[in-house]
Amino acid sequence: MPIRPEHVFLYPIDWPQLSHHVRFVRAKGCCEHCGRPHGERVFHLRDGRWWDRNRHCWRNGQGRRVRRPTEDILTHGAWTPVVLACAHLNHNPSDSALHQLAALCQRCHMLHDGPEHRRRRWMNAHYRRALGDLFYGPYPVLGADWITPTPISMLNGGSPPSTWFW
Ligand SMILES: [Zn+2]
Repeated sequence: MPIRPEHVFLYPIDWPQLSHHVRFVRAKGCCEHCGRPHGERVFHLRDGRWWDRNRHCWRNGQGRRVRRPTEDILTHGAWTPVVLACAHLNHNPSDSALHQLAALCQRCHMLHDGPEHRRRRWMNAHYRRALGDLFYGPYPVLGADWITPTPISMLNGGSPPSTWFW
């Protein structure tokens, strides 16, 4: 996964070697959450179940063996290439301790980062709105009415902060 230009300086200088070690030495080229192999095309159902060609069995999104699907796999299935990326489990690119890194396929990476991406989208929207308010007066309602106060569920893991300052 490409590194955003504004985050480049948060990564250690040996990030390529560290990422390679996590993906191909520690994880042996397989996703550490679901077990999909790097660089291969995998047949999967859209709910996370996938066909493990090497072990001749179906696995779920956590890599556990599951029963053969009962539905028609030709209508529900699809092929996808697997690309492993080194993910920060705590979403902090400046913390590159090995226990905070995991080799994840693109599906597991998106599932893991989803809440963080939603939180950042909210923060960027509020940041832009605040800048607009600062320099151009109150933000126009047209086109910005979808920006509402950040729900408590997105702050501090769902618990309200100890001090509210508005
Ligand atoms: Zn995976």
